[in-house]
Amino acid sequence: MMRLETAEGWITLNLQRGALSLHLYGQDVLAYDRAGRLWSAALGEITYRRGLDNRVQAIQATPEGTRRRWLTREEIRRLEDELASRLRTLGGLLAGGAFRWITPPPDERTWQEALSVLDRASRMDFEALEADAQRFAEVYAPIGILPPDQYLSLVVQATLGCPFNTCTFCGFYRAVPFRVRSPEDFEAHLRAIRAFFGHGLWMRRTIFLGSANALAIPMPRLISLLERLRRIFPVRTDREGEGFAGIYAFLDGFTGLKKTIGDYEQLRALGLRRVYIGLESGHEPLLRFLQKPATAEQMMETVGRLKAAGLPVGVIVMIGIGGDRFAEGHVRDTLAVLQTMPLGRGDLVYLSDFVEIPGTPYRARAEALGIRPLSPIERRAQAEALRAGLRHSDGEGPRVAPYAIEAFLY
Ligand code: SF4
Repeated sequence: MMRLETAEGWITLNLQRGALSLHLYGQDVLAYDRAGRLWSAALGEITYRRGLDNRVQAIQATPEGTRRRWLTREEIRRLEDELASRLRTLGGLLAGGAFRWITPPPDERTWQEALSVLDRASRMDFEALEADAQRFAEVYAPIGILPPDQYLSLVVQATLGCPFNTCTFCGFYRAVPFRVRSPEDFEAHLRAIRAFFGHGLWMRRTIFLGSANALAIPMPRLISLLERLRRIFPVRTDREGEGFAGIYAFLDGFTGLKKTIGDYEQLRALGLRRVYIGLESGHEPLLRFLQKPATAEQMMETVGRLKAAGLPVGVIVMIGIGGDRFAEGHVRDTLAVLQTMPLGRGDLVYLSDFVEIPGTPYRARAEALGIRPLSPIERRAQAEALRAGLRHSDGEGPRVAPYAIEAFLY
């Protein structure tokens, strides 16, 4: 942590392995990756979060809850140009020595690195960030969604799209035909990722093996892809040492059964650290209504195999889905399924407030059955009932956390 005083006030610079954050004059907090890409800016009461596709979300706490809004292109231009201009002024001031140290001065190397990141960030105005987003779109197919604890992972796309695309509420991969990358194609993708992130790579701590269901790849091909992945992006096998802190991925309960406990043990030895499974509900009639590819029984069996292989899981449950028609069965059977799964410390249960995605068949099917959407109060009660049922007095149960898909930004 470096703190210094300029004519305008105090500045704190925090240079970490992958990022630089700046606290300016006791007001604004800006964060950049080491390539100089804006990641977040807390300006007054509003926090702006930027994605690599150069979309920006404004987040504000209000008495009614968190308000999120996507900025227009013009607003993004103004914000990014204004911040780049502020950094140019600041960079000039620091490079010219017009300040005094509050904390002991850092070593020369750290200081020069901080100035370099600042310099790169000051060049990243709207035009430069748009060009960067264009390069991002050339390297990646659209990234539909990630689990909340993986927003800062390094996504690598071993597969594109979803092999099912049947779930009536899901619109993440409808426009993307499913395909598994060949080993050569995957390796070229990995090299393109490394070149794209550049200095910003180490802001990413873990690797997320995308897209919707990459663990469905048959074992021989999957192992060959993971070996290539680990050659280009080293993965730590224990808590210490260099490299990424493990590989994470989604899996559906149906294809999850095509692998044995031994297969999952082998994947764990290759660095797999947690698998996320979209249960959505434990209520079979609701799962059939939603056209999920797996039954609750199959998802329980898949989770059982993962846990037997020593892999932590993240189970995603939807709040409010199925409206009034399925509400009672949804809570009852979901709790029963979650309580039957061998979940403990290290596992996660995500409660995801159902958001209707435009263009998906869910609404028409719900309306045809006369389903009434749940009110916010009913949804809160549903979430609370699930939380209460998963509470362990000894603290040994899974961690239960919210999953707001509208907050997702990569
Ligand atoms: S919820 Fe999962 S399995 Fe269903 S369509 Fe979406 S990505 Fe595919």
